[in-house]
Amino acid sequence: MHALLDRPLWVFDMDGTLTVPAHDFAAFKAKHGLPADRDLLGATLALPEPRRREVLDAIDVWEDAIARAAQAQDDAVALLDALVEQGARCAVLTRNSREGAFITLEAAGLLPYFVDQDLILGRDCALAKPAPDGVLEVLRRAGSTPAEAVMVGDWVFDVMAGRNAGTATVLVERHGPAPEDWRSWCDVRVERLDVLIS
Ligand SMILES: [Mg+2]
Repeated sequence: MHALLDRPLWVFDMDGTLTVPAHDFAAFKAKHGLPADRDLLGATLALPEPRRREVLDAIDVWEDAIARAAQAQDDAVALLDALVEQGARCAVLTRNSREGAFITLEAAGLLPYFVDQDLILGRDCALAKPAPDGVLEVLRRAGSTPAEAVMVGDWVFDVMAGRNAGTATVLVERHGPAPEDWRSWCDVRVERLDVLIS
């Protein structure tokens, strides 16, 4: 058991962390004429209207189709089982919409782990990661402090958001070691989430 397992509040990124990643961001950005070197949400929000609204609507349609076919990561399920068993609370903080998060978690069979559904936050609930706002909002809703919480994700924005909010941070590297410049943002790096409970 990793020492972090003592912490009573766990905040999870969704896509690629709890669920099998299915979004082809490069293809979507190419299709909509967005710069390949910027994150999708950032590039879209920087567009002038009415293009901004059009692309945001296209993102909603794209995400909805993927959400309805979502599958859980086995190693994430093992960690969630252990956390719930020991009485920890689990939260989701995603750059997806909040509605999309519910559809995804339901389709993947993960919704029952998030007993307090106020702790499922999307990009419409707070300034998106890497800003700390979403993590801080989870803490506020849970009545918790940063020292009681862990932020878990598979992308540098996840661990940046956690670190910026003062929580412990876990980066899951299922596809090999993360880039060097991501590492200073995480306290723990694991190949699979279930190594935290072994
Ligand atoms: Mg992710």
